[in-house]
Amino acid sequence: LRALAIGAWLLCFGAARTVAAAPSLWTVDGQGTAARAADSRASLARTPPSTVPADPSRPHGDPAALRFLVAGTQAELPSAVTISVAGAASLPDLALSTVPCPKGVPASSCAVTEPIRLVADVADARHPLVAHRSLIASLGDSVEVTATEPLGRVLVSGPRDSPIGPIERHRATLRVTMVRLAPGGAVPVGGDDAGAKAVAHAALARINGLWGACGIDFGPPNELEVAIVSPPPPHLLAVGCGHALPATGGRAHFRVDGRDLAVTFDAGMSPAEAARRTARAIERAGFDVRLSDNPRSAASAGAPSDLSVRRADGTLATITRRGRMPLSDDATLNLCIGAVELEDGLRHFDDVNSWLGTLEERTLAKAFDDHDPNTIDVLLVPGLGRGGRTGESFIAADGGALRNVVVVDRAAMRSHRSSNTLSHEIGHVLLDDPGHPDDYGRDTPTRLMDSDAADPSAFGPRRLSANECARAIRQSGPRTPTPLLRPLR
Ligand SMILES: [Zn+2]
Repeated sequence: LRALAIGAWLLCFGAARTVAAAPSLWTVDGQGTAARAADSRASLARTPPSTVPADPSRPHGDPAALRFLVAGTQAELPSAVTISVAGAASLPDLALSTVPCPKGVPASSCAVTEPIRLVADVADARHPLVAHRSLIASLGDSVEVTATEPLGRVLVSGPRDSPIGPIERHRATLRVTMVRLAPGGAVPVGGDDAGAKAVAHAALARINGLWGACGIDFGPPNELEVAIVSPPPPHLLAVGCGHALPATGGRAHFRVDGRDLAVTFDAGMSPAEAARRTARAIERAGFDVRLSDNPRSAASAGAPSDLSVRRADGTLATITRRGRMPLSDDATLNLCIGAVELEDGLRHFDDVNSWLGTLEERTLAKAFDDHDPNTIDVLLVPGLGRGGRTGESFIAADGGALRNVVVVDRAAMRSHRSSNTLSHEIGHVLLDDPGHPDDYGRDTPTRLMDSDAADPSAFGPRRLSANECARAIRQSGPRTPTPLLRPLR
């Protein structure tokens, strides 16, 4: 007689009695703590490949990997098990090692597997140190353990332990906007529209894999919103660009979709006040204005305010100069028209204006801003300007008008398997932290948030610590005023 379900079953045939039992399945974490498989959670690897102690009864120390333990009577224990993920990847015929039953496991005999690592990709799964005990998995998968009969399954979720306790699954929403080189011109990646979308879907799978270690995903590829757009027209007027000094008294002159407009600035007016007067003048001419005040850059006295001008139907208007007239004849308050010209690369921020963005970045981002504080906007441009930078992010902590915006270029997408730039920049947004662990501390090039690592192997920049996972939930989780992460049941 063999039991098909876990437990000991008393069978009565008249006066004759016998017991049929099936072994029970447990997990043993890195500290040696056992839990019933039904109450346990698996999580994705957060550390690079490493060796484990030869003695299977000793704690293996890996914060994510689990040993699977079969408990029962000696006669019931199988000699090997097969571990598979969602019926796909599997580790067949894994030999079990007999160990003393851990505390809390009510059985006379126990046997365990090696610590099983669940990983995001082939580079990690096939690393020689861990290939024999690694399986590719995603959040929400179930890890099934089978001997001759199924023994049980464990769901893949977030970290079992962190400074805020266990982390279950959360989801964030990305909105990807790909910007052509010129109106109607080439897409930034992929060759054509279909290819560009394929690149976005592949990148999403990558991001899901790496952030899965924190229990965070960004939804399935078929739900990803990808827009392919032309660069916006010069729709943005920055009032108080340059040093952003108050007005001394003067006039602004510009043209919106061919209509000549003039605005008078009084002496002492701040850029923000002048911007509001300018916005009213534009609105009186029949346009919509989205006004946003920027924070001050380190190099200027005040801060510019941006006016994004749209037609009544919501499309972007075009702002030009009035012939040879200066945009502003005020001696101290300047105006600038924001234009996006991607042929020479998007002019990106430096340390002086990092929280503000350059005028060109603001013109691009404010053209496609969805005004949804609960999504992360990814802008993919053909190239970022000089300097070798391939991605950057605008985060809430900057206090700027742009937040939850990530800008990456074609080079970042090409090297995304080695430097994981997009996942890294999304990390700045989720962690709401512009810094890098190697800015102050030890250089750890295996960490996703390392500033400059590039390596496509399992030792490349891809790991997230439990502290970082906890910080993402604290800064962007469901209990924040504008959450980017929502719990997934
Ligand atoms: Zn960074």
